[in-house]
Amino acid sequence: MTAYTPMIQQYLSVKADYPDAFLFFRLGDFYEMFFDDAIKASQELEITLTGRDGGAEERIPMCGVPYHSASNYIEQLISKGYKVAICEQMEDPKKAKGMVKREVIQLITPGTMMEGKGLAEKENNYIASVTAFEDRTYGLAYTDISTGENRVTLLSNHFEEVLNEIAVLGAKEVVVASDFPGELQQKLRERDVLVISFEDNSSVEFQFAQLLEQLNQEKLKQTSARLLNYLFRSQKRSLDHLQPVATYQIHQYMKIDYYSKRNLELTETIRSKGKKGSLLWLLDETITAMGGRMLKHWIDRPLIDREKIEHRHELVAVFLNHYFERQELRDKLKEVYDLERLAGRVAFGNVNARDLVQLKRSLMQVPSLKQILLNMKNEKMNEVAEGLDPCEEVTDLLERAIVENPPISLKEGNIICDGYNEQLDQYRDASRNGKTWIAQLEREEREKTGIKSLKVGYNRVFGYYIEVTRANLHLLEEGRYERKQTLTNAERFITPELKEKEALILQAEEKISELEYDLFTEIREIVKEYIPRLQALAKVVSELDVLQCFAQVSEDRRYIKPQFSAERRVVIKDGRHPVVEKVLNSQEYVPNDCYMDSEREILLITGPNMSGKSTYMRQIALMAILAQIGCYVPASEAVLPIFDQVFTRIGAADDLISGQSTFMVEMLEAKNAIAYATQNSLILFDEIGRGTSTYDGMALAQAIIEYIHNRIGAKTLFSTHYHELTVLEKELSKLKNIHVSAIEHHGKVVFLHKIKQGPTDKSYGIHVAQLADLPKEVIDRANEILSALEQSPVETVPTVKEAVKPSEPAVQVENFSEQAAQLSFFDEPKEVKKPEFSSKEKKVLDKIRELDLLDVTPLQAINMLYELHKKL
Ligand code: ADP
Repeated sequence: MTAYTPMIQQYLSVKADYPDAFLFFRLGDFYEMFFDDAIKASQELEITLTGRDGGAEERIPMCGVPYHSASNYIEQLISKGYKVAICEQMEDPKKAKGMVKREVIQLITPGTMMEGKGLAEKENNYIASVTAFEDRTYGLAYTDISTGENRVTLLSNHFEEVLNEIAVLGAKEVVVASDFPGELQQKLRERDVLVISFEDNSSVEFQFAQLLEQLNQEKLKQTSARLLNYLFRSQKRSLDHLQPVATYQIHQYMKIDYYSKRNLELTETIRSKGKKGSLLWLLDETITAMGGRMLKHWIDRPLIDREKIEHRHELVAVFLNHYFERQELRDKLKEVYDLERLAGRVAFGNVNARDLVQLKRSLMQVPSLKQILLNMKNEKMNEVAEGLDPCEEVTDLLERAIVENPPISLKEGNIICDGYNEQLDQYRDASRNGKTWIAQLEREEREKTGIKSLKVGYNRVFGYYIEVTRANLHLLEEGRYERKQTLTNAERFITPELKEKEALILQAEEKISELEYDLFTEIREIVKEYIPRLQALAKVVSELDVLQCFAQVSEDRRYIKPQFSAERRVVIKDGRHPVVEKVLNSQEYVPNDCYMDSEREILLITGPNMSGKSTYMRQIALMAILAQIGCYVPASEAVLPIFDQVFTRIGAADDLISGQSTFMVEMLEAKNAIAYATQNSLILFDEIGRGTSTYDGMALAQAIIEYIHNRIGAKTLFSTHYHELTVLEKELSKLKNIHVSAIEHHGKVVFLHKIKQGPTDKSYGIHVAQLADLPKEVIDRANEILSALEQSPVETVPTVKEAVKPSEPAVQVENFSEQAAQLSFFDEPKEVKKPEFSSKEKKVLDKIRELDLLDVTPLQAINMLYELHKKL
């Protein structure tokens, strides 16, 4: 190390503390990176890699970015999941003796972004921390450093719950102790762009004691303290806007696991992973950014407390009954900026004068917001109005202190109003008087010399000067003017009195900028005192925004207020799928009823593919969720129980996460439902058992239905293409068949999307194939096989012609279906003749029997198939 120059040695010693971050090392006007950082950054940021002599034999790789455009580069790195440590010069290089002192002033990580594009307006940016306790329970804390929100909870010994919460929060970074179990770290890493950071010290630092005051358990304190310590250490600046840590428990809300949330497309769609097409997208008529975040939060956590839900419904009703007030409120909300994030910036110290003007304008809306609410003359609305704290002191202060259109920079003055500070007024007088004096001097000099074109100007190098064109030089009085600069056509002069005034003016201007900056800082500190009140206000405004949004959507889309049934009844008349309805165009959507009670716990839905089974199932779940977040629902009448949990198993294109087979995912999700569902839950199973062979699949489907029927009693919607299952209605008293109707019209199937009682009578698979434009030859052949199957036992199936070969299981199913009423499900169909196999084929069969299909990835399956094929 001694071979390196002192500067590189300094770099290395700082870098040693931040091994996992890019170190932006300030050198003059640049942030430089060295060694591996430089190589990696030059690739990631596409900037030129250079080298530098650093004392050692070989040149040191180096690359750099100008400090004024650094934020762009920093954002790029953060969005790729890296961390960036900003190392600044801590003293003026001109005044420093020896090496300039340098220190890391901030560690920027994906979870601690305070500004920039990485921070979506209507989304929170959470950083979480997980603590694994000895009794195998987990603590989970999270913070949004831009808004100051702070929460913590304890979770059971299922790490899945932790992963679920983290996924729901969309946290980008998780802080754990360095001895956090490796296999759990691995599970965290499997999540998309999740950065893991380590923090060992979880003792409660003094400045946090207050934040942790409300926590009554050591585990909660320890979990929160780990996160707060990490934030404090990495941010190294005021975090005064952090709110006291609030506890929550996941069972206070309707539980919907991560997969079910995705399946139901609550906040993003499965295919595009974007918001468009999701329930959030449909509902988002919020106006403020804070309201947008609150809406997402509500969708992520539907309520289960009837009183709280009905409170929301009632407020929505008031808004619906007051159209004009609602529109007025919406107009006012447009003037309200992001109070939460503004408060965060005040505390963080990166607020500028324009931000404070935004804060003022927002606060100025509060009295009118309040008045609008009071005008609706409703007791509950009056209570909300009470909660709107206009923080008048802040408005007054900002009104008096900050000019209407300040510059972004805080160093150039023009921020503070005249009359706010006496000293500032005096300096401004001096500066303004000085300028008047100079204008007057110009006039006097023109008169005295008779030179009309004479002018007084200013430049940075020479300060104020008198400029006279060459042709007029002879008119100047000898000895009074000192020559300063010669231009092509003119000369510039100064006089002693001009210099004297200049000194006064410049001094005053310098003092003005300094004083304005100090005053600004002072004002910021005063505003800081109001942060808790601003945050409380922000919360009320966000809730108002979401409630008006519910009213707006409910009105536009003709939703109605749901009623809750204590007897666990579901009565839905003319229910619609909110998103499909919007996308389709309301006239095309076929509304459907749903009736469930203690005699009808399970609805078994049959019907051809594409007839609308899964849309129907989803619409019931979405309606329950809408009702429980406090919104109205798309139906003409709705009575619902309050569901404690929603489970779904709905096939999705990207089931193949982490290499698990579709069937395995299917079974895991089914297991989840069976293990955790209660009588008060809602279960949606779409085509369960499809991922395996027919017999397996049907057997499992039946066993699962029986279990739910006999042991759980949860409200269940179960769609299936196994017609054989419809006989279950005879055995299971609380199971009822329903189907989606379709009719044949000129040999083609027409979907009516209408739910009817009873099972379907016919499979329309072939017609769907026809709709999909399969070659006519295939369709004709399929019809031929079908009618043969419908008439005769399997031995007499017509010989297979040409290349169109029906797959073996399909033949067996159809055959099986004919006899389902008489056969028990798991008997081998007796009529099927065992074919003769060659010894080669037998070997292959043996191999297949040995396979453990539950433990096989799709890729492995293809390889196995390939191997088997080779053997034949
Ligand atoms: P399945 O689950 O039976 O295969 P889906 O529920 O996926 O069928 O529905 C297929 C398509 O039919 C959907 O994409 C939707 O466009 C349309 N659809 C479903 N239900 C309705 C309805 N009630 N009214 C109008 N169109 C519907």
